[in-house]
Amino acid sequence: MPELPEIEVTRRTIHERLVGLRVEDVSLKQTGKTTTHGADLAASLVGQKLQDTNRRGKMLVLEFENGIALIIHLMLIGRVAIYKGEQPEPFNSLLHIRFEGDQNFEVRFVAARSIAFMPLDIVDDYPAVAKQGPDALTISSKEFTEALRKTSGPIKNVFMEQARMAGVGNAYADEILFAARVNPQVPAKTIEEDKANALYKNIAPVLKRAIDMGAAEEYVIYLGKEDGLTSKYDLMQVHGRSWRPCNVCGTKIKKVEHGGRSTYFCPECQKA
Ligand SMILES: [Zn+2]
Repeated sequence: MPELPEIEVTRRTIHERLVGLRVEDVSLKQTGKTTTHGADLAASLVGQKLQDTNRRGKMLVLEFENGIALIIHLMLIGRVAIYKGEQPEPFNSLLHIRFEGDQNFEVRFVAARSIAFMPLDIVDDYPAVAKQGPDALTISSKEFTEALRKTSGPIKNVFMEQARMAGVGNAYADEILFAARVNPQVPAKTIEEDKANALYKNIAPVLKRAIDMGAAEEYVIYLGKEDGLTSKYDLMQVHGRSWRPCNVCGTKIKKVEHGGRSTYFCPECQKA
């Protein structure tokens, strides 16, 4: 699943390539029972410039000149495609926007309810946005302490609930825990203050490093390393690396299952 760094890199890529361009055509496919929120507004984008891009947690927000915003949540397997000219290979996307200069933008592999059109001034009241907690890149130490206080179960849970803190998911939770040298299985309620501080101090640096490295190659189709994008898995220190040696101490990375999710950590660096 794309997490905050991948969504932020995707946003920057869209921003660099498409902001300032005028929409020439919008094609939105509705599937059977699910319809896109505000689908009737899609046609209003024709003739309008893409004015700005934004992010709310793991959601992308595209802002058009006529005050209409397009919200995109890539969920588990969503992808955006950006390309110039003909579509490199035939594909039916949920949403296809053709911009001037033969630039194309598509949203693929998502359900209709994963995108929404609405006036920009009500984006923050849209339920999917409104119910999110503070953004992981800007959360204050006080807000993080508050989120910790409300977390039950293992400490990793504080990163998984978007209502407590928005943007981090399974992979970057493992990476932040490793960077802070905190064992992911420690109960949140019993975490010591110095470890809580270490966790807080590592959130933004871990996410920013992935953003700086361009971690989004998996999610932006037809663009790759030559466009400055990197695979998020090339950056991981522990996540997805079971049985491979820890980059710090050489101990084999361990994988445990909890609540249907895999958690990776170094048993030496992250002693309980
Ligand atoms: Zn280690």
